[in-house]
Amino acid sequence: MAAIHGSFTLEKWFYIMNYTMGRWRQETQGEDMMKCGICKAEMEEATVSYTEDIEQGVIVIRHVPAQVCTECGNTWYSGTVAAQLEKIVDKAVTSLSIGSEVSIINYTKSVA
Ligand SMILES: [Zn+2]
Repeated sequence: MAAIHGSFTLEKWFYIMNYTMGRWRQETQGEDMMKCGICKAEMEEATVSYTEDIEQGVIVIRHVPAQVCTECGNTWYSGTVAAQLEKIVDKAVTSLSIGSEVSIINYTKSVA
């Protein structure tokens, strides 16, 4: 089996779509109130768990600040949070390769 790190899943595609659309909305319309990229309902501040399923195992990052759609549950991360998640995942991949198949990280603690 080929070891594809960060394989291009549908979930990831949605994530990138939401990220891009969120940025576009903020830049072009200057909206304070976030709208869902899928159903256009209102988004609200929430704390979620971000999961990354990779070849080496599963990485779960808890207490991640995000905007969640009140209608469909679609989750959107700000640019800062998305960049931070990427960093945490990179670090976690290293620890996964030395044994455990599950890595649970507290976002708040790893950012502070
Ligand atoms: Zn929605």
